[in-house]
Amino acid sequence: MSVQPANSTTNTAVAKTAVTKTTCPYCGVGCGVLIEKAGDKVEVKGDPDHPANFGRLCSKGSALGETVALDGRLLEPRIHGKSASWDDALDIVASRFSATIAEHGPDSVAFYVSGQLLTEDYYVINKLAKGFVGTANIDTNSRLCMASSVAGHKRAFGSDTVPGCYEDLEEADLIVMVGSNAAWCHPVLFQRMMAAKEKNPDVRVVVIDPRRTQTCEGADLHLPLRSGSDAVLFNGLLSYLNFVGQRDQAFIAQHTSGIDAALAATGIFDIAQIARTCGLPEGSVQLFFNWFGKTRKVVTLYSQGINQSSSGTDKVNAIINCHLITGRIGHPGMGPFSLTGQPNAMGGREVGGLANQLAAHLEIENPDHRAMLQRFWNAPNIAHTAGLKAVDMFQAVESGKIKAIWIMSTNPLVSMPDANRVRKALELCPLVVVSDVLEHTDTGDLAHVLLPATAWGEKSGTVTNSERRISRQRSFLPAPGQARADWDVVCEVARRMGFSGFEFATPSDVFKEHAALSAFENNGTRDFDISGLSTLGIDAYDDLAPVQWPVSESGAGLKRFFADGRFFTSDQKARFVPISPRAPQNKTATDYPMVLNTGRVRDQWHTMTRTGKSPRLAGHVFEPYAEFNPEDASRLNLIKGGFTRLFSAYGSMIARVRIETGQRRGCVFVPMHWSMQYASDGLINALVNPVVDPVSGQPESKHTSVKAESFVPLWQAVIFSAERIAPPKNTMWVTGLSGNAHRMELWGEHMPADWDAFAAKLLTEATANISSYRDAAAGKFRYFTTRDAKAQNSSLNAALFVSLDEALPSRSWVSGLFAAEELTASARMSLLAGAPLEAASDIGELVCSCFSIGRNQIDAAIKAGCTTVQALGERIKAGTNCGSCKPELAKMLGQGQALQAVKPNLVPSN
Ligand code: SF4
Repeated sequence: MSVQPANSTTNTAVAKTAVTKTTCPYCGVGCGVLIEKAGDKVEVKGDPDHPANFGRLCSKGSALGETVALDGRLLEPRIHGKSASWDDALDIVASRFSATIAEHGPDSVAFYVSGQLLTEDYYVINKLAKGFVGTANIDTNSRLCMASSVAGHKRAFGSDTVPGCYEDLEEADLIVMVGSNAAWCHPVLFQRMMAAKEKNPDVRVVVIDPRRTQTCEGADLHLPLRSGSDAVLFNGLLSYLNFVGQRDQAFIAQHTSGIDAALAATGIFDIAQIARTCGLPEGSVQLFFNWFGKTRKVVTLYSQGINQSSSGTDKVNAIINCHLITGRIGHPGMGPFSLTGQPNAMGGREVGGLANQLAAHLEIENPDHRAMLQRFWNAPNIAHTAGLKAVDMFQAVESGKIKAIWIMSTNPLVSMPDANRVRKALELCPLVVVSDVLEHTDTGDLAHVLLPATAWGEKSGTVTNSERRISRQRSFLPAPGQARADWDVVCEVARRMGFSGFEFATPSDVFKEHAALSAFENNGTRDFDISGLSTLGIDAYDDLAPVQWPVSESGAGLKRFFADGRFFTSDQKARFVPISPRAPQNKTATDYPMVLNTGRVRDQWHTMTRTGKSPRLAGHVFEPYAEFNPEDASRLNLIKGGFTRLFSAYGSMIARVRIETGQRRGCVFVPMHWSMQYASDGLINALVNPVVDPVSGQPESKHTSVKAESFVPLWQAVIFSAERIAPPKNTMWVTGLSGNAHRMELWGEHMPADWDAFAAKLLTEATANISSYRDAAAGKFRYFTTRDAKAQNSSLNAALFVSLDEALPSRSWVSGLFAAEELTASARMSLLAGAPLEAASDIGELVCSCFSIGRNQIDAAIKAGCTTVQALGERIKAGTNCGSCKPELAKMLGQGQALQAVKPNLVPSN
């Protein structure tokens, strides 16, 4: 593989292929991407014509070209770990599923799928399960992402409808972001909002989040509320809006029902009490309420901080209630807006990917809808009741109720709460089938049958983003080895199980049926209607331009729902939902006094199966970390850069300590990305509370009771190597790419007897030239090898640094040395000294991944007089490509006492 930065040019001597327009496979923003290939190089650019991003890409999207190589790919079916033919693998899956159903009934099997699937994949697997097998035991990892939004929409609107569009975020005068670190998790959309704010400085941004995230760098007001108290705040806002007369009386009367009960549930308006319960200064709550009350064009954008809660659905409805009372929905610049985490979470909702839905937004509990779907599919065995949602599904696997499971395009051993219990469940399951692109994932390693799937660059189909925009994902690479598209494999299994209705020849055939179903006996009764796309021929499907649903017969999409005040309830009125706020459910709070909050980092995606392949993405945050408030850190004897061991009632993990004033006291934040492929002890979801929201079934991933202890290993080390290295036994480790090298952080509780022998066993090639240094008294050992035994100045091959504490060399400096063809005398001396002799050669921790600009370079530019993000860009280019690092640059400027790029913090002090 060769790697191309986003804006790089390719060698003009090599002919380029035609440009392929496709979509980014990461977050729910759904950015359009242009792909050009030149030889083996893949050049990635933002699509200027795509309405989600207008040419922008974030750091993850910009690095997509680095993720398409075939290293680690699964290229053949495997049965019990051995190569097998497709014929044998498909026969086993079909016959074992059929036999299990025949013996134990349809609910003895399950399917666990993913928001990474394309709509066409999703459609056929749902059709198989819910129409032909006759079970609704099919759920998706989107259950962990936005199931509470779906449930909240259904309760308020009678349908799972996102009312607005991205333009609303640019047209709003007040943007309220709740439980959303959009700067890192939806970066391109965040940049659109920041650009709109820059154009119109009167636009206000409020961030509601227990943690001062990077998103706060662009905010006018941050409300660091107590974890789990969002419904109290929004109930209070509802009460306030009523109290100060900000009701849209005509809208309420004509288009809603239930306001009295909703207001009664809020109790008497008492701002002091609201502020106390939320742990906020009264003045900042007053300011927020005041801004919301006075501003007509308000968008409330919310994400996992709201959804991932045991009362997530109530929180969603508490937000929607505030938009209903003010009539702020369905018009430009206003409305509640759920941001989806995954690229096709919305597509999954369209095809009924959740266990409690049917396809095309039909309802499983509605007998008319079931009959309608049965007629349309000519289905022999339609599911009659909701199936098991994700957490319940794996518990049913553990109890033996489910005896065969097919997991597709997701890694539940890493992403599910109480992840060790999910491992135990799959170890007990008689048949585990996994479809994946990689040879090894934590989940795939437990599969009895492993099926090779096509990956992003090889797939063709459609995805739907957070604003209901359907875009084509087009292949630009051939399927490698024996990899096959998921929709094709599902159809083949269905046919081998004896079902007809799966004779699709192309993804376009699947899409046509999906579109036709959306129109079937609809007559305006269901929001999801893409009848205008149901007659697309194969060429028109290939050429399909991004379009927002619903799509009428004319082919035109619709930006906003509910402009006419008509909803999808029986009386066409929206429902206020009375909310009685509930505290997060924690039965073990005494033994585990801190609150664990999990989330994402800027440059990694989910369980790193794709982003982990990009060296520059790994450069931003290399290892699991736990972020503490300084007072907690001091109380717990935690030091910056040291380790902590976190425990919950479910499991434990080890992470590097970070200390941030923006972290709430009593809370700790840990990112969720590291699997057993990347870290021996980094699995944070092993600790996460599996309690779920009773309506949506979404787990409480933002609030688990934990305790933290300082963890001091006997020794620490870092290894760099040009070749991949296996972790040594009896050590704890984190591994990944670092520039041109593989890097492994190591630590242990038992000291190896001989460090030379340890290093030689791990790192030495027969032909290498070895240099080493030992200071036994100080507990230091340094060791490096160059490629050519006879030439000491040949390129660096491997390096190992050992210390009794955190005092190890700058990682960016060492990995930078692997780029040089020759190791200078100064570099060799530096390696033995454990630090660069010339300070300028250490860029420091990576901040701007597009241009590989580190913290030391930015600090130097600030010292040299840069006082704004723009000035940093002009001087050292940082932040001038994808812009994802701009919030971090702004923060650094704040720390450097040059505050122009950072809005003043308006939170009144206690
Ligand atoms: Fe991909 Fe980034 Fe766009 Fe999300 S914001 S779709 S990760 S480029």
